[in-house]
Amino acid sequence: MSGNEYFLEVRPRLPAVFERLEELADNLFYSWDRGVRGLFFRIDPELWKRCGHNPKVFLRRVAQYRLDELAQDPDFVLRYQDVLAAFDSYLDPTVTSPREREIQGLDAEGDLIAYFCMEYGLHESLPLYSGGLGILAGDHCKAASDLGLPFVAVGLMYRQGYFSQTINRSGGQEIHLNPFSLDELPVLPVMDEHGDQLQIQVVFPGRMVAAQIWKVAVGRVHLYLLDTDVAANTAEDRTITYQLYGGDRRMRIAQELLLGVGGVIALRRLGLAPSVWHINEGHSAFMILERCREWVAAGLDFQAALEATAAATVFTTHTAVTAGHDLFEHDLAADHLRGLAQAMDVTVEDLLYLGHSPQNRGRFNMTALALRGARRFNGVSAVHRDVAARMESHVWPDVDPAENPLSFVSNGVHIPTFLAREWVNLFDGHCPDWKAHLDDAEFWERTIQRIPDHRFWSLTQSLKSEMLADLAELLDIQYRRNNFSRARIEGMRRVISAENTRPLIIGFARRFATYKRALLIFEDMERLIRIMGDPERPVILIFAGKAHPQDMPGQALIRRIHEISSQPSFLNRVFLMEGYDIALARKLVTGVDVWLNTPEYPLEASGTSGQKAAINGGVNLSILDGWWAEGFDGRNGWGIAPHSDDLPSDQRDLVEAQDLLDMLEHEVIPAYFDAGPGGYSTDWVSRCKASMYTVLPRFSAERMVLRYAEDIYAPAASGARELTDSEGAGACELSEWKARVYAAWTGVSMAWAECPPDAIEGDTEATLRVDAGLNGLSPEDVVMECLVTPEMAPDAAERVYRFSASEVSDSGFHRFVLDIPAPENGLFRMRVRMYPFNRYLQHPLEMGCMRWV
Ligand SMILES: *Cc1c(COP(=O)(O)O)cnc(C)c1O
Repeated sequence: MSGNEYFLEVRPRLPAVFERLEELADNLFYSWDRGVRGLFFRIDPELWKRCGHNPKVFLRRVAQYRLDELAQDPDFVLRYQDVLAAFDSYLDPTVTSPREREIQGLDAEGDLIAYFCMEYGLHESLPLYSGGLGILAGDHCKAASDLGLPFVAVGLMYRQGYFSQTINRSGGQEIHLNPFSLDELPVLPVMDEHGDQLQIQVVFPGRMVAAQIWKVAVGRVHLYLLDTDVAANTAEDRTITYQLYGGDRRMRIAQELLLGVGGVIALRRLGLAPSVWHINEGHSAFMILERCREWVAAGLDFQAALEATAAATVFTTHTAVTAGHDLFEHDLAADHLRGLAQAMDVTVEDLLYLGHSPQNRGRFNMTALALRGARRFNGVSAVHRDVAARMESHVWPDVDPAENPLSFVSNGVHIPTFLAREWVNLFDGHCPDWKAHLDDAEFWERTIQRIPDHRFWSLTQSLKSEMLADLAELLDIQYRRNNFSRARIEGMRRVISAENTRPLIIGFARRFATYKRALLIFEDMERLIRIMGDPERPVILIFAGKAHPQDMPGQALIRRIHEISSQPSFLNRVFLMEGYDIALARKLVTGVDVWLNTPEYPLEASGTSGQKAAINGGVNLSILDGWWAEGFDGRNGWGIAPHSDDLPSDQRDLVEAQDLLDMLEHEVIPAYFDAGPGGYSTDWVSRCKASMYTVLPRFSAERMVLRYAEDIYAPAASGARELTDSEGAGACELSEWKARVYAAWTGVSMAWAECPPDAIEGDTEATLRVDAGLNGLSPEDVVMECLVTPEMAPDAAERVYRFSASEVSDSGFHRFVLDIPAPENGLFRMRVRMYPFNRYLQHPLEMGCMRWV
């Protein structure tokens, strides 16, 4: 046979009663609402799976007779109507959903948060993500929708998405690009006033690049996606939005220019006026320059424009790995920034300066741009905050990283998305208002503790059984495609089987980046073989993950795990699954007993997959890094203390691996297999329960977004208003003042006017006198303060006392005086410092200037 093939699609006609299935298929509400997914599943379970859980594809393939049949099935029609009613009330602005919150400091009418990210992981049917960052951004949008936050998101419409992965016979990762047709995705064209798809234009080197806009409905929130695959562009420019993290540096900067600059232009074309702009990881930081350009066009000079822009900008950094920061050679950056520089009447060098960082001379650093163009910054866990604060301390050169303006909001996961259906059903039955208590720790402890142990155990085991059934099917496909022997397939089938829930199953799935140390557990193979080899106490290890196509060491990890999984001693004990995506992640985190994570401290930033496992009753066995350093309480899993500070890296890996194996051998495995009369270990169940009720309220995306909203977005909105009201008068004043202070600061000095007292009586005051040479600044331009801590309690909160300015000496020194009331008796440490002060500053130390006496 030869000749071309043509496709003919025969589409079903939706019976009138089911017309609104289309609407359900067009809102990512289905990604977390089990009622909607249940409908599609009930129509045709097999087809639903074959369509990759994509409702749009499903509705084009489903058999006509099945639709007609169900249209006559009162039971199904009733269920369908219930789902629609829930959907309508979720979207109805006049109905308050249980998860909605009054957000302190934000005005639902006047404020709008614009969120920019390079990737979004909402559901497997919309593969615009590569890993944790994307899933986090997806969860952020979902929680924003739940909470009723005024929120809009911006990203890129990757025509081929991120690659999907298979693993071949020899453990090689094979990548597959999936050019999908957009009418099979839950995206809708945004139209302009003439009824054409809305297009915007972005200035690129020597040309304009056009992008059309798509809209994704995520519950009540809209995500707008830019797409350069339009006829107006050259063939090359059409490819800008083909692949997530594909292509070379030129492609990357094109994507980032489009996202940052084009994203702002798109929101303006849509008539939106965000009051806060959130840069989620540095990729979208060019938005700062476009917004500066707008302010310059409105009449501000460049520095004032930068102040006005930055006050309304929030930047979240996600990488603790230095190589994870986006850098562009100056020539490349200059090419792409020239248009913006001209529009703002500044030099390209002025713009390049915004991206400079000490370790990367000659290259433009997107993180540095984000730090200079934002006034609120955060890392994604407590550990990561400190790492990032040190890494970025060059932005605030005089300030101790411990107190520079970088804060943190720990990452969380969207509970309705990642909580297994069985748990949802249980809570729906026992405490129907659970969705209104997502961040209520006492509620969860009470609720989970009330579940009888045997019930809890059997629920986790049935989830495990379901997972095993699904994994067996997937491994079967993988093994057959790779021509594995019948014996090998049957061996796998015996172990990975819905009936075989007895083994302790440990999961490890995430991107195969080297710092995540997927091989750590194999550091001492002999010992691991011994630990896993006890026939009475079977243990199974399941691995999954993608490596970036250009990450050769990452792909070597996959090959090595493949090899190990084929060695006789690990055969049918270690499994490597291909095709890690959000669907496989959901399966694994709901079914495994133990979630393993062994990153190299302190590089994990946060990590979120362990949170997904915990909320489903799994326990974490992980290095105390990222979120787990906060989440672990000694009882809700196992924490491995890192040795990064005391050992060189090769020894550190060995020691941490031994600690891991110690825990596995002496604690985890015995705890799991120590079955009592009920056939399960009560100790194990109590740990699972603790894992669930401690993690669920603290590491939900709902709690995370609420923290962003109240602690970061709200102050950014009001701080920016002060600077930008009256056509930016505040911003002009602030930028002129900053210029004056920076120019004067090198000449600023301070010295004791008289020696501070070294002892006083308990009921008196200590008087401190300091002279400051202000180099032309006035005392109102600075704050001088004394920090006092008790010698015996160095960790106690510092007490801070402010000096007042008194007289000016003949030689021009300003005398500052402070009377400190004697604290309780004892020895105290005092330090005196001075830094610039202006009421328009968004953070007291934002200028990074400080003097100590
Ligand atoms: C949750 C999730 C991640 C994040 O995993 P980490 O272990 O936190 O890095 C990555 N990929 C997918 C598909 C996920 O669902």
